[in-house]
Amino acid sequence: MLDFDVIPIPVDFAVPPVNAVIIFDEPLTVLDPGPRQEKTFALLDEALKSRGKNLKNVKRILLTHTHVDHFGGAAEIVRLSGAEVFVHPDDAAKARLGRNEKSSRVMKKFLLSHGVPGSYTRYIDLFFEKSARYQEPLEKISFYPAEIPFSNGTLRVHHTPGHTPGGVVFYEEASKTLFSGDTLLEHITPNPVFEENEAGERFPALMRFRETLGKLSAFDFKLIVPGHGGCFSDFAGLKARYLSGWVKRAQKILCLISEQKEITAYELARLL
Ligand SMILES: [Zn+2]
Repeated sequence: MLDFDVIPIPVDFAVPPVNAVIIFDEPLTVLDPGPRQEKTFALLDEALKSRGKNLKNVKRILLTHTHVDHFGGAAEIVRLSGAEVFVHPDDAAKARLGRNEKSSRVMKKFLLSHGVPGSYTRYIDLFFEKSARYQEPLEKISFYPAEIPFSNGTLRVHHTPGHTPGGVVFYEEASKTLFSGDTLLEHITPNPVFEENEAGERFPALMRFRETLGKLSAFDFKLIVPGHGGCFSDFAGLKARYLSGWVKRAQKILCLISEQKEITAYELARLL
């Protein structure tokens, strides 16, 4: 079974600490290193040194998805170590370019078309500017094989679109351990947030996320290691909470729509 440590990395913006995972079996691997900030590298290096290694020894970086809090610091580790970085093809553009002009344009167009006041779009610019500080685009990336071999175990890669188009989780059959990234989080709703797909269209995040939950139902989990917060094991309870939350939200939306003659998505969101 794989020998790993979870390192919570505090983040300088409004998200809870992100869980970086170091897998000490060969080749030495870091899963979701965290954002580009000094403490990311200091904490990872300290954890590695406690086992006689350091950041220069990292051979492989696995990314569950390419949101800034998970992947932003990967390029710096590559510079130090020459590690190979793996992503899913559907998250590759963000890994290569970071959040960019196209993402900003697609998001603004979407928000304006749903009634968001034009003056609010400056917050999108601020969001993208701030994100850019904590990430460095990756020049070279590899795509995932079906399985990732280690000296003492194997991780199976599963594409789990929803939180992002190219999100993946990793499953170790021998220990029934799932490294879930932001696909499963025990105390935070892993928002299927706004994303554009490779063609620059809005990605249907919630629908894909629901399909992903169905796919994960076939697994047997003993331990789920999430992208934020503590480890847990009750997948069935979590899935039931997600589903009932969405049903309640959908019922409220239906109710509000039936009460109004005409309402934009923005006005509706403000009433929820
Ligand atoms: Zn996250």
